[in-house]
Amino acid sequence: MTALSEDLLDDSLLRLRERCREVAPSLRDLGMALDRDPDAITEYLHLPAFDLLDQIFTPPEYQKRTDVESFDPSCTALVVILEAISHGDPNAVLAAPGAGLSRDVVRELGDDAQRDEYFGRVVDGPTWTFFGLTEPGKGSAALELETTLTPAPDGDGFLLNGEKRYIGNGARAQIGVVFCRRAPGPWGIEVVVIDPSDPGFEGSLLPMVGLRGARISRLVFNNVRIPADKVLGRHRPPSRRGVYGALHALLRFRPGLAAMTLGQTQAVCDYLRAHRPVLPAWDRSRVDGLEDRVSAVRQAVHEVAADIDHGVVNQHRVGAVKMRAAQLGERATLLAAELLGPASLIEHPWLEKAYRDLRAFEFMEGTSNLHRLSVFQGLLKNDFLPGGEPDAAWD
Ligand SMILES: Cc1cc2nc3c(=O)[nH]c(=O)nc-3n(C[C@H](O)[C@H](O)[C@H](O)COP(=O)(O)OP(=O)(O)OC[C@H]3O[C@@H](n4cnc5c(N)ncnc54)[C@H](O)[C@@H]3O)c2cc1C
Repeated sequence: MTALSEDLLDDSLLRLRERCREVAPSLRDLGMALDRDPDAITEYLHLPAFDLLDQIFTPPEYQKRTDVESFDPSCTALVVILEAISHGDPNAVLAAPGAGLSRDVVRELGDDAQRDEYFGRVVDGPTWTFFGLTEPGKGSAALELETTLTPAPDGDGFLLNGEKRYIGNGARAQIGVVFCRRAPGPWGIEVVVIDPSDPGFEGSLLPMVGLRGARISRLVFNNVRIPADKVLGRHRPPSRRGVYGALHALLRFRPGLAAMTLGQTQAVCDYLRAHRPVLPAWDRSRVDGLEDRVSAVRQAVHEVAADIDHGVVNQHRVGAVKMRAAQLGERATLLAAELLGPASLIEHPWLEKAYRDLRAFEFMEGTSNLHRLSVFQGLLKNDFLPGGEPDAAWD
């Protein structure tokens, strides 16, 4: 399986992965520090991994730094980088300043002036951003969102009212995007750029069990004034604005999230092998079996990423790899905790943290139940493989 997956990567990607693998170990200490104090990130921004993340999340045309090489990563490059960095620690990716998930929405929907302003702010020093979609009670049913965008009574732009929840970096961001409703139905959804210093914006941190670096937040908007030029995609028809922007960003990022999960899952397997180099045959076969599955899903992640790079987006397959990666992450931590002994989660603080972190991946970018529904729709349409052959990665 591993060899097959390698075949999908060209020499430059293999070199990039080597570079990521070199910098990833330095992230272990960072991960433990963020777990204790998520704001400690500012002490670690000098690490080379953050230069890499800056490279991939800052569109090259806006990169101001001359000390990092600019490039526009393909989806395949994104998954390769994110998996390798997350082998060190996935919190680094989620805690990093930069455009993050909002990058593709602004780049895709914004006009020139909107992009210049947004990315101009992002490259102006370490700037945190957010992607505000989820609402209380409207997580899986995100398209039923209720945050409203209504014309301001004085005719000067719009007013934003509502609440968002579980928004990564929301309460520490300097700028972000908010999905909101201007009219009923999916085409009534808009995306606006918001500055948290605007009157009526309130952000607070939510307590987290895992992935504490993500700093998920509750955001409340109380008559926040949104000038008309902050509505992204105002030059496009409604069907190519809000929902289109959300889907574009999420589908492109979802394989990356699966790759992050696999990176940390592989790290758990490696940790287990390092601490229990000799295992009884049956237990060894369980670890081997798990790693085979990780390789199979990695192969599938590379395939869906390559498809996206070729303009083919099969939502069912993308959802399937995300779901399977999240399941393997949980399974790996359970197996490691079992094989390292009854007090393993006390004796191995890193494993205990990985155990908590890997559970958060179930929720990000859609839960397994939702992806399972999507997978069944794909199966009904025989959408998975040419000829309808069962795929080893989906068993
Ligand atoms: C670390 C982290 C970072 C996040 N960052 C962001 C962010 O930056 N921006 C953002 O907008 N959101 C973010 N989220 C939110 C995330 O997208 C939501 O948690 C996710 O969409 C699930 O929504 P929910 O938590 O409201 O769960 P719910 O939708 O309430 O689901 C609860 C349970 O019900 C099940 N369920 C729901 N609907 C169905 C159905 N139709 N059929 C069967 N089962 C169903 C789900 O599978 C789940 O098990 C983040 C979450 C986490 C954990």
